[in-house]
This record gives sequence, structure tokens and C-alpha cells, in this order.
Amino acid sequence: METTQFDYEVQEDLMITERAYIDEGASPEELASTDEVVLMAESTGEERYGVAISAGNLRSGPTVSYPEVHSFVAGARLTIITPGNTRTRVRMGSRTGWISNSRLERIEFHGRAISAGNLRSGPTASHSETHSFPNGAYARVVSVNGTRSFVRMGSRTGWMSNSRLAFIERPGRATSAGTLRNGPTASHAEIASFANGAAVRSLGINGRSFVRLGTRLGWMSTSRLALGSVIPTIPTINRINQALGRGADERQVTAITRIVIHHSANPTNGTHLNTAAFENTWRNLASMGAPNARGGYHEVVLSNGNMEINMQDRRRTWGAAGQNDHTWHICLTGQHANGINNISQTQLNSLANRIATAMRRFGWTSANVDRIVRHRDLPGQATACNDVNVANVRNAVRALLG
Ligand SMILES: [Zn+2]
Repeated sequence: METTQFDYEVQEDLMITERAYIDEGASPEELASTDEVVLMAESTGEERYGVAISAGNLRSGPTVSYPEVHSFVAGARLTIITPGNTRTRVRMGSRTGWISNSRLERIEFHGRAISAGNLRSGPTASHSETHSFPNGAYARVVSVNGTRSFVRMGSRTGWMSNSRLAFIERPGRATSAGTLRNGPTASHAEIASFANGAAVRSLGINGRSFVRLGTRLGWMSTSRLALGSVIPTIPTINRINQALGRGADERQVTAITRIVIHHSANPTNGTHLNTAAFENTWRNLASMGAPNARGGYHEVVLSNGNMEINMQDRRRTWGAAGQNDHTWHICLTGQHANGINNISQTQLNSLANRIATAMRRFGWTSANVDRIVRHRDLPGQATACNDVNVANVRNAVRALLG
């Protein structure tokens, strides 16, 4: 999709300067939220994030007659304090100075939450919380005001504490051959070419994506770029070669249309604390096909948030009666039903992480989170499994998928 001009009628002055922030490939929803970003960012007077696109020096004042105070490399991250006609006053780490505008571009950096928290409606703790996010949530970082940054998380926008935010470079691959340019428009000079499939690392986006291609830094069309995962890895125990029913029937992974959340229904100090304990029960249950019982869950979230991986996606398990041809199953150890809830936030974070990871494998996107359901939500199930807040899980997964 071409960069849109649909906002011009409403916000002409604003959009002329800010339309470069709109992704070339953005969906209508994203475009709406981009508009919101622009309006909020402009109205609160905070500093924009930017990047040095070539190496140079900061000067102590806005002309070349001022002394050089700090040298920087291409790709150096900065915040824009005072824009000027030829030079801009910026902060780089703990230093401030003036950079030539020819070396500077505004950019939305890729970021990731390093702990769970909340977005707020404004840049202070007195502003209301509008959205909670899990550890690992992906954010596009637009601007900063003191100790908080204005970010986009999926379709949402808000302010998050800088103490929870890490800037990242997202690994990516070119989806078609193209050229790297020395600035974010088609009129900037071509500095390198790349092949379809070329590996890049994306620092951020300003209409086009600012990327490392080998040792070079430059801009490529965002429409030619597929970004890789930013979902954090959590500890897993691989039980694929020992799980009950590991040789169970196969189905096509493309047949999967639902991810199903279970709980193990342990009130306290229960016996179903890991998959081996489940299997001791299953192997003797006629309803599980004893004596040739299959496993029930592809993955299990242990009480400490670590994972047991039991079954490959292609295995058809016995997770939900009559529904197993098209379902993928994940179980929380603990109980969330009948007025009891001993499942921890750490477990729920792991649940969202592993569901998002599975969705990536299935080729699903954040638009598919409605395919995440609880066991009891499937047709024809007589079970209390379970009372997990599925809307919260979907939001957390959406945040992880970015
Ligand atoms: Zn269940």
C-alpha cells in the first residue's frame, strides 16, 4: 500500500510534516493509531527520538564556529531537543549538543518491555492506566518526556516507563530485491543493493525502515522487509521423545484453527504438577484410550512458569472430545475454576509467550487472537476448564506479536 494521504483534509499542516511516520504497509487501524500518535506527541511537547545516519560530531552551538564536543557513529540513538534550520540540538546518552540536520533523521525505534507494566494516558504516574502489557511486549517508540516514552503497542498508544523499556534491533529479511538508500525517501541516493532474502537488522522506522545490511546502514522500503520475532525465550523441558502418545495420529498443521487453554484443576498441593503426573492418570483411563492412550496437551506451563513441550504441532492429541483434529492444546498447572485461582501471573505470562510463539509457527498474526479459546468454550464440552480471562490472554499475545 502506498503512503496514504487520507489525513490531509483534517490535519493538513500537521500531516505534511509528520506523514513520514506512517508506514508504507500500515493497515487502516494502524494508520488511525499513527494519527493519534502524531496528535498526542505534538500536544505534549516531548522530545522525539532520532538517529544519526552518518558519523559526525556534536557541537556546543548551532553553527560550525562552535567547538566539537562529542563524536558519534552512524546509527547512534538520540533525542531531539530543539529543531533548527541547519542544526538540531539533541541528547545522546548523557551528552547534549548540536548535530547537522544532514546527519539526522527522526525515527520510531523498535523496543521491548523488559518487565510487565501499564501504558498510561500521559507522561506521568498521575495519568490513568489504559492498557497492561506483559514482559516482552513489542513497542514502537515514538518520543520521550522525562522518564517515560510514548509508544505504540499493536493498535494501542500510551506512555510507558523508560525503566521497563529496552531498545532492540529486530532481525529481518528482505522479501524482494531492492536498494538501500542514504535517507528515507525515494529521492535519496542509492548506496547498496540487496537480494531477496538478504538478512538485515532493523533499528526503526520512519516510513522506510532504517537497517543494517552487513556493515552498511541505510534505508529500505518497509514493504520489502519481513521482521523476525522479538518474543523472549523462556526455559523449556523437551519431552517430545518421552511423552505419552508421542507417536499419535498426525494431522496437517494447517488444519489447526484453535489454540485451547486448559488448567490441571489442582486446588492446592495437587498431584497434577507436571506432564508425567498427568500421564500416570491418562494411561489408565478408558476415556483417554487406555491402554494406548495419547497425551492431552502439546505444552504444559509449570508452576514456576517454565514449560514442558510434549507434542509436535502435527500430533493429534486427546485434549477436547470431538475437537482434536483442529486444536492445539496448552495447559496451566493449577486451578482456575469453581471460585479457586492459584495460577500465577508468571504462568499467565508464559502462557501468552508460548501461544504467541505457536501462532508464529502457524503463520498466524495478531489479527488472529480470537482463535485463542478456553477448553470450555469449545462446542460440546462438559467441563469447568476454566475461568482464565481469555481477553487478557489475547491482549498479551497481541502485544507479543507486535
Ligand atoms: Zn481442559
